[in-house]
Amino acid sequence: MRVRHKPWAKEYLHSHTNWVVIDPVAQKGTWRSLFEVEQPVHVEVGTGKGQFIHGMAKANPDINFIGIELHESVLVSVLEKLVEEPLPNIRITAADANHLTNIFQDDEIDFVYLNFSDPWPKTRHEKRRLTFRTFLAQYEQIMKSNGRIQLKTDNRGLFEYSLVSFSQYGMTLEEVQVDLHQEEDNIPNVRTEYEEKFSSRGQPIYRCVANFPNKANE
Ligand code: SAM
Repeated sequence: MRVRHKPWAKEYLHSHTNWVVIDPVAQKGTWRSLFEVEQPVHVEVGTGKGQFIHGMAKANPDINFIGIELHESVLVSVLEKLVEEPLPNIRITAADANHLTNIFQDDEIDFVYLNFSDPWPKTRHEKRRLTFRTFLAQYEQIMKSNGRIQLKTDNRGLFEYSLVSFSQYGMTLEEVQVDLHQEEDNIPNVRTEYEEKFSSRGQPIYRCVANFPNKANE
């Protein structure tokens, strides 16, 4: 994804610490204390401009959401949505998903969303895919028992790769849709910016939900 540098991004983020966590590593173990209400914590990795997390937080006031995005210049778009329509159950932070276990304590969160993650199609870049086994190990470590991952993508290669990666890791697939938008009457779905873009081109949207059986069976 091409990112347009916004020199004012850092200052804008720093002026809204009610929503923005400036030092996510310092927050390790205390994320729940940031929210007004103690309730499940769901994390979106690679939040992008935030249509999904904002829509989800609005539709699910009984869940607290944390958005993690690599680029500050992208994260400001999430913050702009919050400034326009404030919600109490979101926090956002600029961080790299490669360091999730430095950011979250073991068992600190309940659910992970991966939406239209970069597919990294070249084999030599496999380790960068957010469903590569090292990422799965991080999600498993920071999630409670019954922790689940929901993946949505337009990219068939990434989808197939992820199904195999989940399976090889010992995860259980709970739901799979190969054309999510055909089933939106039955499956509540908040669309992301990328989802709107790819769907408008006629591309099917793939979705699955997988869990970690070892933790689920504890
Ligand atoms: N989820 C959004 C959507 O569906 O509209 C954005 C999708 S975009 C293709 C992928 C996003 O993931 C980008 O905003 C990118 O900066 C972010 N990203 C990629 N690698 C990341 C990482 N290691 N840690 C955090 N965010 C990452």
